[in-house]
Amino acid sequence: MPRTHPSILVVPSSSRYRTALLSWYDSHRRDLPWRGTRDPYRIWLSEIMLQQTRVAAVIEHYYEFLRRFPTVEKLARAREASVLAAWSGLGYYRRARMMHAAAKQIVREGKFPEASEELRNLPGIGRYTAAAIASIAFNESVAVVDGNVERVLRRLSGKLLSLRECWTAAAELLDSTRPGDFNQAMMEFGAVVCTPRMPGCLTCPVVDLCATRGELPSQSKPAPQRKKEIHFALRCRGRAVLLVRRAMNASLMPGMWELPEMRVNGAGAAGKQTFSPSSAKRRKDKPLYKLRHAITVTDYSVTVWRGRRTKVDAKWIPVDRLKQMPLTGLARKILRKAEML
Ligand code: SF4
Repeated sequence: MPRTHPSILVVPSSSRYRTALLSWYDSHRRDLPWRGTRDPYRIWLSEIMLQQTRVAAVIEHYYEFLRRFPTVEKLARAREASVLAAWSGLGYYRRARMMHAAAKQIVREGKFPEASEELRNLPGIGRYTAAAIASIAFNESVAVVDGNVERVLRRLSGKLLSLRECWTAAAELLDSTRPGDFNQAMMEFGAVVCTPRMPGCLTCPVVDLCATRGELPSQSKPAPQRKKEIHFALRCRGRAVLLVRRAMNASLMPGMWELPEMRVNGAGAAGKQTFSPSSAKRRKDKPLYKLRHAITVTDYSVTVWRGRRTKVDAKWIPVDRLKQMPLTGLARKILRKAEML
């Protein structure tokens, strides 16, 4: 016997909600490059890129990735370094590696899976992504829950629903005649109207069905951002720049290329050039420039120094090859500021 969950109605009338939301979506949806396609590969790519990344940051990468790998077969045949280079700047590189592995599996098995349950057998595809691809590309009647949908459901119901309750509520609310559009409408609505801060209740198309009409008081405060200082050496020789490759077993961005990091006062691990701010001051060294960079919960204050001789295991990379290299997002930012990219 399949287990059934208790019903969770988040609005007094689901049918009125569906009609109002879909009609709002039909006239207000943003014109995004992955809208209006039923190609599962393109939908999959957009869904993976949009995880933890803003729409504006994804668009350029989406076009570039498709220019390099227009089909799942082309992606499956590509070298991992080329895939990471195309992903460079988006961060969370595990997504690119998983997508590459999944493309190989699809090509090996000879068919793009259509059902959400089958899609979940692919590397890097969880419940949300499987439901998004299956509903948008193949019209399967299956609901999605991402951060935007969770927030909308909680505000509509006026309750701090658990994640599991959100999945049940989303399934009950889903419009089974247009599941792909309905799912996209829920996410779009959360992204542009029922936003995390100051939701647009005055122009909300479902305001009369909403129990909260504003921000729902939260029980937990967001974790504060950590602050950290880091230093890098920018060393050039002719039209080449010195870069190091991160270890293949590094927990973050394994195998990606970056500038040699300078560990302050020699406190760091092997492989890092040591550096003392007080001796730099004595020598009257001036940094080339400073910039800021955020990764997950850490805000980095980054100082870039003109590189000196270094013992780290680094390699001279010609500047005109940089675009094809799998660079970390921060390395890309530093090299852009130095006008090398
Ligand atoms: Fe969100 Fe406000 Fe609309 Fe309620 S009324 S769904 S809080 S935008």
